[in-house]
Amino acid sequence: MLPNFRYVHAKSVKEAVKHLSDRGTRVHAGGTDLLGCLHDHVFGVQKLVSISRIKELQGITETAKGGVRIGALATITEVAESRLIKRLYPGLAQAASEVASPQLRNQGTLGGNLCQKPRCWYYRGEFHCVRKGGDRCFAVGGENQFHCIFGGEMCYIVHPSDTAPALSVLKASVKISGPGGSRIVPVETFHMPPGADPQRETVLEPGEIVTEILLPPPVPGLRSSYRKVRARRAWDFALAGMALALQLEEGAVRHARVFFSGVAPVPWRSREVEEAILGKRLDRETLTKAAEAAVRGAEPMGKNDYKIPLLKAVVEEEISLL
Ligand SMILES: Cc1cc2nc3c(=O)[nH]c(=O)nc-3n(C[C@H](O)[C@H](O)[C@H](O)COP(=O)(O)OP(=O)(O)OC[C@H]3O[C@@H](n4cnc5c(N)ncnc54)[C@H](O)[C@@H]3O)c2cc1C
Repeated sequence: MLPNFRYVHAKSVKEAVKHLSDRGTRVHAGGTDLLGCLHDHVFGVQKLVSISRIKELQGITETAKGGVRIGALATITEVAESRLIKRLYPGLAQAASEVASPQLRNQGTLGGNLCQKPRCWYYRGEFHCVRKGGDRCFAVGGENQFHCIFGGEMCYIVHPSDTAPALSVLKASVKISGPGGSRIVPVETFHMPPGADPQRETVLEPGEIVTEILLPPPVPGLRSSYRKVRARRAWDFALAGMALALQLEEGAVRHARVFFSGVAPVPWRSREVEEAILGKRLDRETLTKAAEAAVRGAEPMGKNDYKIPLLKAVVEEEISLL
């Protein structure tokens, strides 16, 4: 059952931010993640502020400089089906089309996808884990088959979003508004590693909301892609995935950015893979080295060891397809 709470519709970002200054208030966008959390008593709430009627948070438009602005309320379907996104950033369109199910993509927003809570069954269940203010992560020595192999520290979740790694390789930023005005943060530093504070997923301060996502103009010849492996073809989160942005020059890699999904508490940049392919032709030897580099430093937890060969296969195959 849902707890009791007040519900208000904000008509502007300013009004939403004002509501958020009241204790126990949370943003309600599409509700696909938030209502599940409230239903499962992951956290409580005193007031929900709906941002769904704020016009300035909608739409996908090309900027004067040739980049793209996506309103935080753009649905995942809009992102997946936008002709502009498909043309300029196919990897992002691909990632959006891999999110959840058609119904969830129609209802869920891009802002909500970046701010969603982790899917760890201990966190979502009746366990007072470190992310809820407890003193341990139950995945350590527990049922950790869907947990991280990189970046675990105190808490061993994996970051659930498919769009965040795809946005990160494209050097996208989020625009945030709050009581102190607005600021712009690169998507790749928007999510917080658990070591910094295991109870926070993002750098959002109290009272702040994401208003838009900004993509820079793609460099000439940029190719981007997203590959996700999940346990079943129906809706499911990534067991391992890879967002890739590459620029080739005379057959060799001139520019490369690689972020993984499903293997770390935040979208995980693999400088190791980037270094393994930079300046190289994408031949068999380079692909093998890139796959080896992908898992360097990985620390599987016992029941998620399968993520090592899985990630290697994802890297090798995805790079070979570009
Ligand atoms: C069954 C299921 C399967 C799923 N599978 C996948 C998957 O495979 N891949 C994937 O990436 N995602 C998956 N998701 C997550 C889904 O994509 C998100 O639930 C959705 O994108 C969240 O968007 P929303 O608008 O519904 O957010 P809401 O549920 O309204 O909000 C989610 C959270 O973000 C906060 N929030 C929302 N908008 C803002 C904003 N603009 N500024 C600040 N805070 C904000 C809310 O307060 C809340 O804490 C799945 C979800 C479900 C329920």
